[in-house]
Amino acid sequence: MILSSLLLLFSNYKSNQDNYWAAREEMVKTQLQGRGITDPATLYAMLNVPRQEFVPEHLKQFAYMDRALPIGHGQTISQPYLVAFMTQTLGLRSSHNVLEIGTGSGYQAAVLSKIVDSVHTIEIVRALASSAGKKLADLGYSNINVKAGDGYHGWPSKAPFDAIMVTAGADTIPQPLIDQLKNGGKMVIPIGPAGGVRQLQLVVKKNDRIVTKNLLAVRFVPFTRDEKN
Ligand code: SAH
Repeated sequence: MILSSLLLLFSNYKSNQDNYWAAREEMVKTQLQGRGITDPATLYAMLNVPRQEFVPEHLKQFAYMDRALPIGHGQTISQPYLVAFMTQTLGLRSSHNVLEIGTGSGYQAAVLSKIVDSVHTIEIVRALASSAGKKLADLGYSNINVKAGDGYHGWPSKAPFDAIMVTAGADTIPQPLIDQLKNGGKMVIPIGPAGGVRQLQLVVKKNDRIVTKNLLAVRFVPFTRDEKN
């Protein structure tokens, strides 16, 4: 494991040198590997997505800190550890078709897109959906579809999904998302009462029934229902 991690770090060294490379490498080592993120695909993705590009200009210097950051419209980009933890939990393979609810800055979608063939992501704040879509296209991510809308309904025409990640805190698991998950598929979603600490839940669908498991206490911006402009 240590050897493969070292190889992973080394193999990417040359092609990914930007001004933030050292900070990103340090983030992967201390915040992720240091806290039990071991999935090579997740580590690879976290090492290769330039997080600084997804935060407002004046916050770039904080992009690799162990914290969430504001991205405008009252929303936040999650702390790197949580992004990696949620990604690792889904047990992704390259052939997977993945749905994310809560595009926000587009960062989490970019991380997923480094691992799987296709990512579909829905954002309820229209301005964020459009800025994330533009950002992802500018950075050359070609396997991500961004849609503005209420993610409660999922994306029926792109279903079924091998994995679904919800990055806003809901009170219950939306039934359409359960319906659009493949048998054997996994979903991660923060569940709990509004305004409080929620439980990040792993939802596994087996024989058309779901089994849920609490993974971690988390704080997330709320899952909302009315589309905003
Ligand atoms: N994954 C994002 C962070 C998301 S913050 C990133 O990497 O930057 C959570 C996002 O969920 C916010 O942008 C919020 O507007 C969005 N959201 C909340 N309720 C939603 C809903 N019902 N459908 C789609 N997006 C929603």
